[in-house]
Amino acid sequence: AADTPKAAEGESFSVGTDTTFAPFEFRQDGELVGIDMDLLNSIAEEEGFTVDIRSLGFDAALQALQSNQVDGVIAGMSITEERQKTFDFSDPYFESGIQMAVAENNDEISGYDDLAGKRVAVKTGTEGQTFAESIKDEYGFSVVAFAQSAQMYDDVKSGGSVAVFDDYPVLSYGIKSGNGLKTVTEKEAGSSYGFAVNKGTNPELLAAFNTGLAELKDNGEYDEIMDRYLEAGA
Ligand code: GLN
Repeated sequence: AADTPKAAEGESFSVGTDTTFAPFEFRQDGELVGIDMDLLNSIAEEEGFTVDIRSLGFDAALQALQSNQVDGVIAGMSITEERQKTFDFSDPYFESGIQMAVAENNDEISGYDDLAGKRVAVKTGTEGQTFAESIKDEYGFSVVAFAQSAQMYDDVKSGGSVAVFDDYPVLSYGIKSGNGLKTVTEKEAGSSYGFAVNKGTNPELLAAFNTGLAELKDNGEYDEIMDRYLEAGA
């Protein structure tokens, strides 16, 4: 509405993101696209602020935020209790959860029980890593962490690791795009994604994100963005 105060109007912010986390952020013809990018750009436009998006990698983006090298992070970042000690989160904008995937031609792993004595791949600092670490002793597997999604997936395809733990919408998008993996277990309950700022910092940016998000949900643009990346599937 025309009379809604715009908390961040005229301001400029730097926002860190992951390098590859399709369909939330990835490169298409050299350009960063995805649900997170479209949401953030539309919210910025709606609220009259500008963003400088930095494609840093997931863990690097969180570290940059913590040391105030960026003003915010949008990276399919799960709102967890642990992170809420360090960061302030926006309203949730996507419900996620962790799932395991294996190479398409792997018929030996159909559940966590089959991971005994094997290695699984995760991305550093993610909920997928936390989940894998939380069950590795029970099932007797080891965990290797990579900074980038591509390295993590390559390790599974080359057989270094027998499985990967990642967010289910990302696995599902990748599998539909023909990345050579398949899922064999149900997804685990997980957290929702939120936009983050450093705790107590940039409250006007957070407020503007929330106002803009509510506006996009009202005017149908939120659904359009989701459909653009999720209905297409690949
Ligand atoms: N949602 C997961 C997390 O916050 C993974 C995010 C990512 O890899 N970009 O830990």
